[in-house]
Amino acid sequence: MMTTRGFGIAGLEGGRVGLTSGQLEELDARVEGRLLRQGDEGWEDAILIWNRMVARSPALVVQPSSARDVAAVVDFARDHRLLLGIKGGGHNIAGTAIAEGGLMLDMSRMRDVTVDSGARVAHVGPGCLLQDVDWATQEHGLATPLGFVSLTGVAGLTLGGGFGYLTRRFGWTADNLDEVEIVTADGELRTANRDENTDLFWAVRGAGANFGVVTRFTLRLHEVGPIITGGLILWSAERADEVLDAYRALTESAPRELTAATVLMTAPPAPFVPEEWHGARVVGTLVCHSGANPAADLEPLRGLGDPIVDLVDEMPYVEMQSLLDNSPSEAKGMHQYWKTEYLAHLSTEYLDAFRDGALQAASPLSYAVIFHVGGALNERAGDDGAVGNRDARFISGFSGVWPPDDPRGEEHVAWVRQCWERIRHFSTGGNYVNFQLAEDDATRTVSAYGRNHDRLQRVKARYDPANLFRSNRNVRPALPAASASQP
Ligand SMILES: Cc1cc2nc3c(=O)[nH]c(=O)nc-3n(C[C@H](O)[C@H](O)[C@H](O)COP(=O)(O)OP(=O)(O)OC[C@H]3O[C@@H](n4cnc5c(N)ncnc54)[C@H](O)[C@@H]3O)c2cc1C
Repeated sequence: MMTTRGFGIAGLEGGRVGLTSGQLEELDARVEGRLLRQGDEGWEDAILIWNRMVARSPALVVQPSSARDVAAVVDFARDHRLLLGIKGGGHNIAGTAIAEGGLMLDMSRMRDVTVDSGARVAHVGPGCLLQDVDWATQEHGLATPLGFVSLTGVAGLTLGGGFGYLTRRFGWTADNLDEVEIVTADGELRTANRDENTDLFWAVRGAGANFGVVTRFTLRLHEVGPIITGGLILWSAERADEVLDAYRALTESAPRELTAATVLMTAPPAPFVPEEWHGARVVGTLVCHSGANPAADLEPLRGLGDPIVDLVDEMPYVEMQSLLDNSPSEAKGMHQYWKTEYLAHLSTEYLDAFRDGALQAASPLSYAVIFHVGGALNERAGDDGAVGNRDARFISGFSGVWPPDDPRGEEHVAWVRQCWERIRHFSTGGNYVNFQLAEDDATRTVSAYGRNHDRLQRVKARYDPANLFRSNRNVRPALPAASASQP
């Protein structure tokens, strides 16, 4: 048991709530997991989030070990009107896992995965990273669509939508969610699926950080790999136009088993890059082919000839999933400032603006990227999950990345903003909620959900009328007809 002293903690109303040592002891007694305060062993790891640009710290951390623990914490936070944050993998770029000065639920002790290969589902704990699920499911030759960096949290990724190399085949990660077990603001543990609590289930598939604490995800699995064909091909950035044209042609004809992302960046001083290219501007295409005939399908790219390196080869799917984990641009502790949009197609005007912007990046870690996601997600009914954006075929934009001691931070931010100003009008009008920044205002979240936003507000009013779950890209509860202000 922790040694408890009374102390102040950020409250929902904006001020601080004083908790007595007796109240903290009561919480500690109700939770099997751990309570941590600054200075306790494990505190620094518990509060570590990926984007160092967001400087926030909670006052108190609980690491629950069961749904029962989670319910006790939700009851405590609600009853004392405390600001509450939830950390899955801590990768959210806006740092929403941490409510400044508040209480944080760090789900890292609930990191179990159970695969039911017969039923083709995985039951996934809320503290799992993508790699936990990929490793467990690939033992059965199965997978669900998850993201490009295996250290990302399953929870935040899935609850905001989720896309990766398998999205073209199987849709958003949220489309593959069959069920959640969730503790709502009233402290109840509920099951939500397509038959039970259907409005809640619709809402969590895209805006899920707003409605409770998910304590179990059930994800549908598909046969994938275990060997796929994938890797990176790099060319000099002087050939950017040629490569971008070939990329566009590839994405128009590629089978859904082939996903390609194109990146304009500075070549890192990595062993796989010939030394003479270290620090040079390059254009690269990262591919993952999980079907038959990869050689024929990759011909439009490989036909360009004369790459700096072509690393595309057969490899285990789990290796593909972690290929970017050690990229210097994805390292924990960097400052990260991203602006992206959904695109319905790649026009020449877009590609010109994309190339021009990318070539002006001042930080060698910054990059510009286009992800191809068109396919299964475009075919779903428009109201199948709050994630929506069924017209998105590409996700593209600019990522400013620099180490904390780089004095040119403002310059890197300005670069992203200027580039984004040039591309934003090509957007479908939606944007990916999981790529929003802390500074983005409410209109950006409203546009991320488009016509689903009103319905989300109504579901929010039903399950979380006091907006307990607000450390997220927030959906505010719909106002009762006569009321003038919102929590
Ligand atoms: C390096 C990197 C690569 C990425 N690549 C991809 C990608 O390929 N595809 C993609 O789709 N996205 C990608 N993302 C974005 C990613 O989806 C989001 O950052 C996502 O929020 C990460 O989830 P997390 O659990 O790690 O986040 P956290 O920061 O822990 O949480 C994010 C939000 O989810 C809420 N939350 C966490 N756990 C729960 C829970 N159990 N119940 C309810 N709410 C909860 C938190 O309150 C918070 O608001 C990437 C991000 C990074 C940093």
